[in-house]
Amino acid sequence: MVKVISRKDTHTFKSRPANVLFMKLEPKIKQKRWDKDLEKQIWNKWQKEKLFKFDKDSKKPLFAIDTPPPYVNTPIHVGHAYTYVWQDIMARSKRMLGYSVLYPMGLDKNGLPIEVQAEKVYKINMHETPRQEFIKLCKNMIEKSGDQSLDSFKKLGLSCNEWDLKYKIGGRYDTDDSEYRRLTQETFIDLWKKDLIYEDLKPTNYCYVCGTAIANAEVEYQERSAQLNHVKFNVKETGEEIVIATTRPELLCTCKVVLYHPEDERYKHLEGKTAIVPMFGTEVKIIPHPAAKIEFGSGLVMICSFGDFTDIRTLRELDLKPTYAISTKGKMTDIAGNYEGMKIKEARKQIIEDLKQQNLIVKQETIQQRSPICWRSKTPIEFVALKEFYLKQVDYIDDLKKMSNKMKFFAPESKQILMDWINSISIDWVLSRRRYYGTEIPLWYCEDCGYIYVPEKGKYYQSWKDPCPIKKCPKCGGEKWKGEERTFDTWFDSSSSEAYVMGYLWDKEFFKKNMPCSMRPQGKEIVRCWLYYTILKSMHLYGIPPFKHCWIHMHIVDEKGKKMSKSIGNVIDPQEILKKYGAESFRIWSCLEGNITKGDIRCSFERIEGNSKFLTKFWNVTRFISMFPEPKENVELTDTDKWILDELNLLVERTKKNYENYEFSVIAEDIRNFVWNTFASHYVEMVKTRAYGEGFTKEEQQSAWYTLHQVMRNILKILSPITPFITDYIWQELYSEDSICKESYPELEWKNGIEKLSEKLLEFNSKVWKSKKDQGLSMKSEIKVTIPDELKVFEKDLVRMHNLK
Ligand SMILES: [Zn+2]
Ligand SMILES: [Zn+2]
Repeated sequence: MVKVISRKDTHTFKSRPANVLFMKLEPKIKQKRWDKDLEKQIWNKWQKEKLFKFDKDSKKPLFAIDTPPPYVNTPIHVGHAYTYVWQDIMARSKRMLGYSVLYPMGLDKNGLPIEVQAEKVYKINMHETPRQEFIKLCKNMIEKSGDQSLDSFKKLGLSCNEWDLKYKIGGRYDTDDSEYRRLTQETFIDLWKKDLIYEDLKPTNYCYVCGTAIANAEVEYQERSAQLNHVKFNVKETGEEIVIATTRPELLCTCKVVLYHPEDERYKHLEGKTAIVPMFGTEVKIIPHPAAKIEFGSGLVMICSFGDFTDIRTLRELDLKPTYAISTKGKMTDIAGNYEGMKIKEARKQIIEDLKQQNLIVKQETIQQRSPICWRSKTPIEFVALKEFYLKQVDYIDDLKKMSNKMKFFAPESKQILMDWINSISIDWVLSRRRYYGTEIPLWYCEDCGYIYVPEKGKYYQSWKDPCPIKKCPKCGGEKWKGEERTFDTWFDSSSSEAYVMGYLWDKEFFKKNMPCSMRPQGKEIVRCWLYYTILKSMHLYGIPPFKHCWIHMHIVDEKGKKMSKSIGNVIDPQEILKKYGAESFRIWSCLEGNITKGDIRCSFERIEGNSKFLTKFWNVTRFISMFPEPKENVELTDTDKWILDELNLLVERTKKNYENYEFSVIAEDIRNFVWNTFASHYVEMVKTRAYGEGFTKEEQQSAWYTLHQVMRNILKILSPITPFITDYIWQELYSEDSICKESYPELEWKNGIEKLSEKLLEFNSKVWKSKKDQGLSMKSEIKVTIPDELKVFEKDLVRMHNLK
């Protein structure tokens, strides 16, 4: 790459030298600057010509993107705008590189956020509203939502295959479409038949606010302050008083065992003795166990069913039968005795008071605790016993790792996020949810014998209201059926997006031929759910990894590096950016600012405006070139022209390689550097006079014209995936009636070996400019400088350029 040595003064191409009397030169590009309002017109033309339509019978190799369907309850934020633009650059560059590109647009319309919003909007409670009615309200409410997101995506210039047409490969989709839900159900039926799904009663994460079981992948952690109570217990055999610290005294009634660390000298004498639980009088064993921490509280710990993950693990390990003191309504059960019917917090308050009254609390202190919370409602989760459906995953950890190792990650280090998650898996995936607006679990139960009927594939079932597809129970002949009422975890829908996109429902042959899907672009925070679950299902169902490439992105932050949030007031709305600067400024900014797979990206209006200066520069260069006609016949090239074409050749090769590796920020930087610092600052300055014709032969002038246009043609092409509007506009003004979107990536053959002089040449020019400046001369002034021998090939142009004596 050429070292950056640029001319510091800003030169313009507005006027030609006064002494040149020549043909009338008018820029073919009339507009003085790029007008962002042209974007809409260009967009409409693309749509009218159906340029990005997917042809599933194409002979070209396939590049398929499993576009993340954005959730429709909020408009897209600037992080979406950035990452969707990068996905579009993937699509556009792959098209140029000879691929048939499957690039569908989907919207996520399933699940809890929609239900919660409906409850707010209509002031209702889901569980108290008839199901049919509730679903209808949800549907009505979200009918139009998503339109604003789609509008932003269109304005950003995304080249998705379809915006309206559905139910076909490349079609747009909503995750609450009956076809999408049919696919979710079909995957369930297949997994069921493979014996990978089972129902079991076990402690499950439960969110009272959401009213449903949730998977470990949906659990977040938050530092919360909690009150640690040091409670007196009695040792039955010796009457000795021991103290156990707990933040959950309301769970005393479920205490199963008391632990001390095996190396804790203070308690070794208690081994095998019995502790009497205060208030309840229950007797439990005291044993040494590594789950107790010497430094926490008194060093003694009670294991309840269930206060936290340690409780669950320890009880399972010690094979102790749990009891459940908390109901799914978030209230104490009869196990809690006097506290039955109280809400958890109430019960805690009351039991602390009672313990105090009986002088059973020695000490209270406030501690900071890492507490599990629900990632949607951000409220603490509890553990309750529920009979739920599970998908097997614990037994497949090694296979999951093998699958994951077959996929290539961008950036490579993001694979570790996935591996860490896989390594942490300790229970199977709880699939069932007690919600309404989701895909129904398609099962019917015989009311006489309990036989479970799994329906045939090929149809979307609503088992809670549809009659069972068969009349008689195959086992007992009974005719009374009860449909399953639960729905799936919405990630169970989302984790089949790649199969939906790849046409699993409509063209099995296409699916088989083209899986794995080429690309999954997504955020790092959903690696443990969206990406992980997709791998899990693909492994179970098709025996292959779902993707070839995974592109994992970090976040957009404000210019100081802070997370954007409404409360701080530092949120940047993409709609505002689009209104103010248009898509092209945003798109070039998104690349020049850096690669979001490698770290957070800082964003501000100033940064977008600053980076878009390149577009102004580019426009000016283009207008200058557009003054000159493009020679049609063969031209004899001068060495100066061969030099810049050599450089162009290298640029095209580098950018091609970088497009293949999604290094769009490197590409934008490279093209900007070439256009601004090599082409405009040096080459154009060298050939300006020649292009105007003064003192040169007609052949030499033609060579300059030819070269200027060759460079422009190719820069337009290689820049077009990043800034498609401006490049297509110029392309059609200057070179073609057809869109630049139909062009292939350039394959150039300029290898004259002159590019090795680049560094010397640029150094020489900079030296001359500097010495004029040092001597207080104008750039046009005559100066005496000797041209080094190796640069003699450029002599004629250099003499004119610098006005050398
Ligand atoms: Zn919740
Ligand atoms: Zn039966």
